Amino acid sequence: MNTPDSLASKWLDRASSDHTIVFLLDALKQDNCPTGPLSSLVKNTTCGPDRAGGFAMNVTSIESATLDKSSQNYGGKKTSSAPKPTIVICQNNIYDYPDYLRTLSHELIHSIDQCRAKADWSNLKHHACSEIRASNLSGECGYGVELLRGNMKHRGGHIDCVMRRANLSLKANPNENGEGEEVIKEVFPQCYADLYPFMRHPGSN
Ligand SMILES: [Zn+2]
Repeated sequence: MNTPDSLASKWLDRASSDHTIVFLLDALKQDNCPTGPLSSLVKNTTCGPDRAGGFAMNVTSIESATLDKSSQNYGGKKTSSAPKPTIVICQNNIYDYPDYLRTLSHELIHSIDQCRAKADWSNLKHHACSEIRASNLSGECGYGVELLRGNMKHRGGHIDCVMRRANLSLKANPNENGEGEEVIKEVFPQCYADLYPFMRHPGSN
């Protein structure tokens, strides 16, 4: 898919007033992560297949956040100042605005975990926990989204989806040597129940 730059930047503009995104940005601030306007944190770019986005902390400028397919984080010169997240959205793998919002929420939840819990991405338990939270809370496992992917199971479908997507992300971690699924099962109950910064699941009405 080739999402033109103009459309991706329109989505970014629109996202800056989306109430879930504003709420997540606020939570980042409260966790002592310096933030700023959404446009200063997010870079729309083109990536290889199967990758919707990523994030890095403490890169000197948004331009230096280059894609590193093999890890959760992006390369870039580190600064010694307070951590500031840089989020990369792979616009060529995003098919519409709701998909853009879900991807952005997913990466913001990772950023929040980095800020509040000092997640260590080389630790598979930390990585698994954040992927479970990001898939659970971003809406990417909503029933409608799963239907579009051809997954029709209703009962238990959400949990299956969160596990499946967390597993896929964990496989990209260079420290994963086949134990990802076990690690996910181990941390799942605690991390799936952790809705922070939401008071209740954002998908429930
Ligand atoms: Zn993720």
